[in-house]
Amino acid sequence: MDSLLSQILNDVKPLVGKGKVADYIPALSLVEAEKFGIAICSNDGEIYKIGDADLPFSIQSISKVFSLILAMEFYGDEIWTRVGHEPSGLPFNSLVQLEHEQGIPRNPFINAGALVVSDMNQSKFAAPDIAMREFLKKLSGNYSIQVDKKIADSEYEHRARNAAAAYLMKSFNNFDNEVEDVLYNYFCNCAIKMSCVDLAKAANFLANKGFSFITGKKVLTENQTSQVNALLATSGLYDEAGSFAFRVGLPGKSGVGGGIVAIVPGQFSICVWSPALNEAGNSLAGMAALESLTKHIGWSVY
Ligand code: GLU
Repeated sequence: MDSLLSQILNDVKPLVGKGKVADYIPALSLVEAEKFGIAICSNDGEIYKIGDADLPFSIQSISKVFSLILAMEFYGDEIWTRVGHEPSGLPFNSLVQLEHEQGIPRNPFINAGALVVSDMNQSKFAAPDIAMREFLKKLSGNYSIQVDKKIADSEYEHRARNAAAAYLMKSFNNFDNEVEDVLYNYFCNCAIKMSCVDLAKAANFLANKGFSFITGKKVLTENQTSQVNALLATSGLYDEAGSFAFRVGLPGKSGVGGGIVAIVPGQFSICVWSPALNEAGNSLAGMAALESLTKHIGWSVY
């Protein structure tokens, strides 16, 4: 595996830094474009890594997976009365569909869907941002995980579109709490910093029928784990989920911080990070690295 990772690093080197670091959140644009890391975690806890795999980065939309899982523990199937499980085919922050579909977001991985999930967590936890960090600390085994407050504040300052989505959903009675409180907690989740190693470990239970080797417990039932993986496969990469299925062939979730988590069911969890993004908002070198990795090993689930 180590020599394969070196080969992949070599293959994608010319692409690292190509594309554009997200700048719609000003504090996020300060990250160096030339970073690249990859970590693979086997279901028995073996870690393979290369490059900047231990450097924490802004997890952004990858947090949507974990806040969904936190909510699934409490709400079970009730979640699906407030958010759907269809791909949207539109950008992650689009408002068009939301008006047509009466405030029920298509899936939990577009912003509107993640905001509804955050609203549900807001109703369950006195401090949902702390609950989320504690959850990630337990799942990754790294108790030093923190929020980058500068990024959270910068997102809050530029919240107009997310606020519009949340207020629109409130007008359709699909939002229970104060919009501004939920928004700030949602941004705190996006602004959590974790490394490729942390994320590969934290997501490993999705490759292992819901069982976390770190906590020694089931995080989700087997059926819920399959449901999350199905959502990742159909809606995890903004409006590029089709290309990701075609090129990589794994369930996955990306974030505008340049991270992508991917799951090889029954075997491995993977996290790749490189901050420069393609037009769809996915890590350009990260996509290429995952494509090369799955082609070499024949890991596609399709
Ligand atoms: N915090 C970002 C936003 O709401 C998440 C972006 C992302 O990674 O998709 O706009």
